[in-house]
Amino acid sequence: MVNKANEKTRNTWEFLRDAIQLSTSPEHVKNMSPEELSALQGRLGYGYNYGIWSTPREWMPAGSRKQSLLEVDFRDRLSSLGVPEAHIENAVLYCTRYAVLIALLPTGLGSRLRNMLMKPSSLLVPIYRALPCLLSICTKNHKIINKDSYLQSLTEEDLQQLSRSKQLEISRELTRINKFCDLKLWNDRPGIDILKKGMSYIPDVAGSDARPKQETKTDKYMPLPDEWVAQAGWRAIWLAKDLGPSLLRLGEQIARIVKDVPHHGSGVTEEAIRRKRRLLALEKMASHRWTDRNGACFVTPPFPLSLRVGANTPPLLPGKWPPTHVTHILKLLELLQYAHLFIALLAVGSRISEMLSLEPGAVIRSSEGVPFANGFTFKLTQVHEGKERDWPLPELALEAIEQQEILREILKQIGFYAEDSSDDSDLSNSLWLRYGHMGEFSATGINDNLRTFVKSIGLSSDPGGQNLSSHRFRKTLARLVALALVGAPKILMDLFGHKSIEMTLYYILSDPVIAAEAKLVSEEMVIMRATTAIESIDEYGGKAAERIQQMVEQERFRLGTDLGAENIRELAEILTMNGQAWELVRPGVICTKLPGSMSPCAKKVGHPEASRCMSSCSNRLEEAFLRSDVDGAIAEAIHCYQTEKDADNELMQDFWAAQILTNLERFTDIREKWQADPTVLHILRCREHTS
Ligand code: SF4
Repeated sequence: MVNKANEKTRNTWEFLRDAIQLSTSPEHVKNMSPEELSALQGRLGYGYNYGIWSTPREWMPAGSRKQSLLEVDFRDRLSSLGVPEAHIENAVLYCTRYAVLIALLPTGLGSRLRNMLMKPSSLLVPIYRALPCLLSICTKNHKIINKDSYLQSLTEEDLQQLSRSKQLEISRELTRINKFCDLKLWNDRPGIDILKKGMSYIPDVAGSDARPKQETKTDKYMPLPDEWVAQAGWRAIWLAKDLGPSLLRLGEQIARIVKDVPHHGSGVTEEAIRRKRRLLALEKMASHRWTDRNGACFVTPPFPLSLRVGANTPPLLPGKWPPTHVTHILKLLELLQYAHLFIALLAVGSRISEMLSLEPGAVIRSSEGVPFANGFTFKLTQVHEGKERDWPLPELALEAIEQQEILREILKQIGFYAEDSSDDSDLSNSLWLRYGHMGEFSATGINDNLRTFVKSIGLSSDPGGQNLSSHRFRKTLARLVALALVGAPKILMDLFGHKSIEMTLYYILSDPVIAAEAKLVSEEMVIMRATTAIESIDEYGGKAAERIQQMVEQERFRLGTDLGAENIRELAEILTMNGQAWELVRPGVICTKLPGSMSPCAKKVGHPEASRCMSSCSNRLEEAFLRSDVDGAIAEAIHCYQTEKDADNELMQDFWAAQILTNLERFTDIREKWQADPTVLHILRCREHTS
């Protein structure tokens, strides 16, 4: 689906580059003069200004368009990293040659990007970070004799001073430089054996790698804890649905004041205008009715809401309502924006750059009327301007994004409260607006603001012991999807609404990263479910429980001891085929059928039919918590059977008899308990008689 309003013209960059490659010999770049370099840099699209690497704004993903990255000034960059003045001019030439070379040739590294053209945003890693850092190290630590040979002086000790992540980044760049040297495209070969520093370490002697291992964090971003999400979720929804409309009404009135009391052409001082606007806004605030979504007045928010507003204004403290300063209203508007963002991130599962790429008018509808947010993705695409992509919008996210458009208009007018709001020519096009700033959000700025947001609504900014970040919303969504896939779809249905669940799941899982994450989580959850079952299999019911009990016994016998945690985990992996099998067919009932095995509910060896699951199936496992339900159900069925018998209602008698027989199959000990009951005994005898 293409949003006409957002349709962007694709540039001819690739054609341009091909033409440049045909007319340029890359091996000459390493000796080019500043004039030749700036001409080539300009033709590649990075500006003709020698020493300044200008990346067109539309080639960068939203969230990464910081001015220092859009315009890399090599002189400033090298000076700030401490390259001595005597080396600056030559280092600028060195950086420009290298930048032109990597922009011209397909020089991507790694399994996915090997020999592919680097995207403009990826180019900035070597250009802005790695190469200036290397030049700084070499010029500060060593006496450079030949001004074309900086890296030859590099030593292992130099790199050991750096952080682990910096070492990896530098190693990657040194690998690329070595490759250029092999191809005679670059002269300055690094002075260290990069194979030993990089990932392709080859030990000097046979045996394992003896180097000390650094602890590596595998869980870079953790899903947000359920309890925290539940708390933050309802608070964000209250802000969006209850406070939002009321706050926007007041915001519109303040925006009108800003418009009606302009500074430009008034002939009075800015301070006087500010005072006048403030007095008028305070009047509006005094008469404002704070109402919820039902139109009822509320006295205070239903959770501790606080606002920190700077040195000159008292903060709005938890329990204090209504807001008394105009700055409180501006802060509340900002808070509302983050409530919208919170809802959208959790419901849509997009990357932050994708979310920031949404513009006003981003909501579009399919021919069936299904709402989508139309934006751009910059991942997994070679198109510099990003690739258009749609995200289906659950109702709550749709409301949040539509309300955000109204909020954006208001913020645009009163965000620069003290100034004249008429000139917004430099304002970001993003749906999400930085209050008080002309420029766009950066990804780190968003994370800081999300943390401030959750602190303002009375929650921890490091849920689960890790700082809140936009990426954790993707992880959380992947986990929720995994929960749905392994048998708890209600969670997602509640989140997205029942109608849109299938399509939403389909779209979420079309994101390969989320799909892979969800698969991992769901497999792990299946293994955990099996681990719990093995640990207390004696309390489980269903015919599969007997089989698993026997397996546990055999394993104990083989090991000659009780099973430890590792043995239980191994057995769980075997039983579930590494998390591929075992399905929750209804609460507490697990189908342990393995792919390819027969089942009474499905045709031949097909997928089990949860709706036809029967208690007599040898694959059925019942969790211990069901035992009291089953016991009660048998007692109730016996009572109903007797009542129908007294009423001489044979049809209903048969029905209750079937209920009793079904439930008797579920737990062995419960069956033994009820077998002595005269009614049950009678029913069992009747069955024997008829079979
Ligand atoms: S009847 Fe079907 S769904 Fe139920 S446990 Fe057996 S195989 Fe699984």
